[in-house]
Amino acid sequence: MSPEIQQLLSVLDNRLGAGGVLAGADVDQRYRDDPDGKLGALPEAVLRPRDTQGVAAALAACNDLGQPLAVQGGRTGLTGAARVQPGEVVLSLERMTSLAVPDRRAASIVAEAGATLQVVQEAADGAGLMFGIDIGARGSATIGGNIATNAGGIRVLRYGMCRAQVLGLEAVLADGSVLTSLKALPKDNSGYDLNQFFIGTEGTLGVVTRAALRLHPKPASEVNAFCALSSLDAAIALLGLLRQKLGPLLSAYEVNFAPLYDFMVASMAMPAPLPAGSPVYVLAEIQGSEPERDGERFAEVLMQGVEDGVIDDVVVSQSPREFRALWDVREDANRVLFSIKGLISVDVSIPLARMGAFLREADIAIHAVDPGADIYVFGHLGDGNLHYQVLTVDPAVAYDIVYRGVAAAGGGVSAEHGIGIDKKKWLHLVRSDAEIATMRRLKAALDPRNILNRGRVFDLNPIAFSR
Ligand SMILES: Cc1cc2nc3c(=O)[nH]c(=O)nc-3n(C[C@H](O)[C@H](O)[C@H](O)COP(=O)(O)OP(=O)(O)OC[C@H]3O[C@@H](n4cnc5c(N)ncnc54)[C@H](O)[C@@H]3O)c2cc1C
Repeated sequence: MSPEIQQLLSVLDNRLGAGGVLAGADVDQRYRDDPDGKLGALPEAVLRPRDTQGVAAALAACNDLGQPLAVQGGRTGLTGAARVQPGEVVLSLERMTSLAVPDRRAASIVAEAGATLQVVQEAADGAGLMFGIDIGARGSATIGGNIATNAGGIRVLRYGMCRAQVLGLEAVLADGSVLTSLKALPKDNSGYDLNQFFIGTEGTLGVVTRAALRLHPKPASEVNAFCALSSLDAAIALLGLLRQKLGPLLSAYEVNFAPLYDFMVASMAMPAPLPAGSPVYVLAEIQGSEPERDGERFAEVLMQGVEDGVIDDVVVSQSPREFRALWDVREDANRVLFSIKGLISVDVSIPLARMGAFLREADIAIHAVDPGADIYVFGHLGDGNLHYQVLTVDPAVAYDIVYRGVAAAGGGVSAEHGIGIDKKKWLHLVRSDAEIATMRRLKAALDPRNILNRGRVFDLNPIAFSR
C-alpha cells in the first residue's frame, strides 16, 4: 500500500468512525463477488460511510489524491460495473440502509441507497402501497444500484423502468459536493433536472445516497397465466390481444423459448405447470382493483386466444399460492442458467417487428461457427427485452454475432443491465460518435479526475484524464 493511500485511510478512519474503513486482512472476499463468476481484484481498502456526509468526505479525499473508486451496492449487476479493478478502493453503501416511513398521501418513500429492493418493496406493502420495480435479485440488489443501472425487471410494461420511480435524489459528486433534491414533487421544472445525471449512468457521474421513490396503489387482484404457444408470432399476437382487451390491467408479459423450458423441467424442484415440448411459453400477469371482475376478464381474453388458435394450452392461477408458483417457474430460469459453467449471457432489446428475423439469423450464424452450440432465450417480451444465452466453444464470436445482429435490427446492446466493463467495446454499435463524445464531456465535467468507476461504460482519453 502506497504511503499516500495509507495517509488517505488514516484520515478517513477518523472521519468514518468504527468499521468505516476496512484495509488489508479485514477486506472480505465478498467485495470481489460477481454473479457472472468473473472475480474482480481484492481491493486494498473498503470505505463504508454511514451517511451522506461520510460519502462526501470519502469522495473529496479520494478526489484530492486522484484515487479511483469502485462504487458498490449489492454487487448483483451483470456487466462488471461494480467489479473491482487493480488499484481501486471500494466505496460500499452497505451501511446506509435506512428507510423513512412511507408517505401514504403522497405515495412515496425516501430510502438510503444501500437499502435492498426487497426491504423497500416490503415497506411499501406494509403501507398498503407497491413499488413498481421487481427483479430476481431483489434480496441483495440495492436501491442505489437499481437507480444507477436504471433497473427494469418484470413489470416495466405497467410501471416503467427505475427512472419512472424516481421522484428525487440526493447524490454526491466526485469532488464531494452534495446535491439534494428530495422534495418528491411530481412536477418540478425549476431548472435542469439534475437527478437524471445519476439514473442509468452506472455510478460514473456521482454516488446516489438517498432517493425519494414513487409508490403505486397496491393491486387488489393479481392473476397470472402460463401459456404454451406455437411461435414468437403467436406470442406477439397474444400480447397485442391482451393489451387491446385489458389495457393497463396487463402488468407483465414474460417469454421463454425452446429448449430452455424443457431443460428447466428436467431438473425442476416444483411441478411443471405445462408439459415440455412447445416452441414458446409465456407468463402473463394482470394487476387490478376489482377482484370480482379482473380474473374473469383475463380468463375471457385468454379463452379468446385459445379460440383464435393463438394459445395452444394455458393454466391460470386460482389462488395466491398458484400465482406465486407460476412466478417461481419464471425465476427458475436463473437457477438453471447460473448453474451452467461457461455460458455467455447477453441482455438486449429489439423492436418486436425485427425479433423473429434476429433470432433466426443469430441462430444460423452461431451454429455455422459452432454446430454444437446451445442457445437459451427468455426475457421480458412486453418490453422487447431478451436475455440470450449461448454455450459455445467460441464465446467471442457468439458475442459479436449477437451484438452486431441486435444493432442491425435497430436494437440496444443493453436493455437493462447497463454497459459496465463487459459490454463497452460494443457500445459504438448502437450509439453514435456524437453521443459517446457527449457522454465523455459530461463525465469530464462532473468527474474531471476520473475517480468514479473509471473505465466503465466507455474509456476516456488517457492523456487528458491522467492524474
Ligand atoms: C438473479 C438476477 C436477476 C436479475 N434480474 C434483473 C432484472 O430483471 N432487471 C434488471 O434490470 N436487472 C436485473 N439483474 C441485475 C442487477 O440485479 C441490477 O442491475 C441491480 O439494479 C444492481 O443493483 P446492485 O445494488 O446489486 O448494484 P451493483 O451490482 O453493486 O452495482 C451496479 C452498478 O451500480 C453502481 N452503483 C451501485 N450503487 C450505487 C450508488 N449508490 N450510487 C451510484 N452508483 C451505484 C455500481 O457502481 C455499478 O456501476 C439481475 C441480477 C441477478 C443476479
